[in-house]
Amino acid sequence: MKMHLSTKILIGLVLGVFAGLALGSDGLPFAKAWIAPFGTIFMNMIKMIIVPLVFSSLIVGICGLGDVNKIGRVGAKTIAYYLGTTAFAIVLGLVLGTLLSPGTGINMPSGDVKAAAKAAPPLMQVIVAIFPTNPVDAMLQANMLQIIVFALFMGGGITLVGERADSFFKFFDGMAEACYKVVGMIMWFAPIGVFALMTPVTATYGPAVLFPLLKVIVAVYLGCAMHAFIVYGFLLKTVGKMNPMTFFKGILPAQMVAFSTCSSSATLPVSFECVQDMGVSKEVSSFVLPLGATINMDGTALYQGVCALFVAQIYGIDLSMGQYVTIILTGTLASIGTAGVPGAGLIMLTMILQAVGLPLEGAALVAGIDRILDMPRTTVNITGDATVALIVDKGEKDREARLANS
Ligand code: ASP
Repeated sequence: MKMHLSTKILIGLVLGVFAGLALGSDGLPFAKAWIAPFGTIFMNMIKMIIVPLVFSSLIVGICGLGDVNKIGRVGAKTIAYYLGTTAFAIVLGLVLGTLLSPGTGINMPSGDVKAAAKAAPPLMQVIVAIFPTNPVDAMLQANMLQIIVFALFMGGGITLVGERADSFFKFFDGMAEACYKVVGMIMWFAPIGVFALMTPVTATYGPAVLFPLLKVIVAVYLGCAMHAFIVYGFLLKTVGKMNPMTFFKGILPAQMVAFSTCSSSATLPVSFECVQDMGVSKEVSSFVLPLGATINMDGTALYQGVCALFVAQIYGIDLSMGQYVTIILTGTLASIGTAGVPGAGLIMLTMILQAVGLPLEGAALVAGIDRILDMPRTTVNITGDATVALIVDKGEKDREARLANS
């Protein structure tokens, strides 16, 4: 029997976890020298395809969307869903942080303060930085938001020029198709890549490292599972009119890649493949997914809610209603500004702590186990992007069917 790709990746993931535990900290140098490089090769390969894939497919997508009204409608809907689900996630994080109170009874020496205390960039700076001065530089840096902005302009330009820009359009169309094929090839390597990424993680974080912070870990994992199954499940069923289980099965390969790479951006090519296999159009997915990988971080928002409360509890600080609201607002903004790379959420956590006047050193307490918390939050981040892609696509298809009938 031919084994499905997600089964193979799952086997790689589980074997990686056990291999890491078996090697333990003594075997860590071996894991780093001989196993981790295969994970790096996998990561490099997916990163290699991100820029050409996003750029070409977004241009094709914009040209496919055609009129400005459609671009505006899809854009507005996407951003509304992204913001709504993110605010919900952070509230869920706060609720779980209150119920499970992970910080009570903990007395931990603060660890790597420096790593966590890096200041988050101010909001206006983030907005200005979306507009590239040099598109080639944006591509060199793989700056996703800048690439999106440039592709939006180029797609608009090609559409406006019409026939004379046809060859240009065909070039990007062919390039996007070739990129999808390359993603397919890279995915053959995914089971080995995921195995190699997981082994050093579990070899580093044995039970001894995780135990003192077990409650934070439980709160974040539980919250992430609840957000995915309840919030996305509900949206998919009611708005997307699809069976959530079909969706979760379809998105599983991307989830496992997200879990092991801890990077929404690196998972992007795989997310593309998964949602397109579920029938989402290229126009919608090429716009919704890259945008989501950069600005939609529900798992990160949830984690920030839990961690803000954790820090408050450790220092015995009671938060006022106003501070809760501040956490929700800054958390939503912070998650937009969070880059889809490993550990970015931790830096943005300091922005929230600062906004509500909590000690920044608090972030250092969770810094030691950040990788473990990054895995589920990145998984939820990309699941949210895919959910919105399916919902928006369904909305567009229904609209087209209605217009065709009238
Ligand atoms: N690693 C996360 C992501 O790429 C961001 C974060 O650190 O929360 O989605």
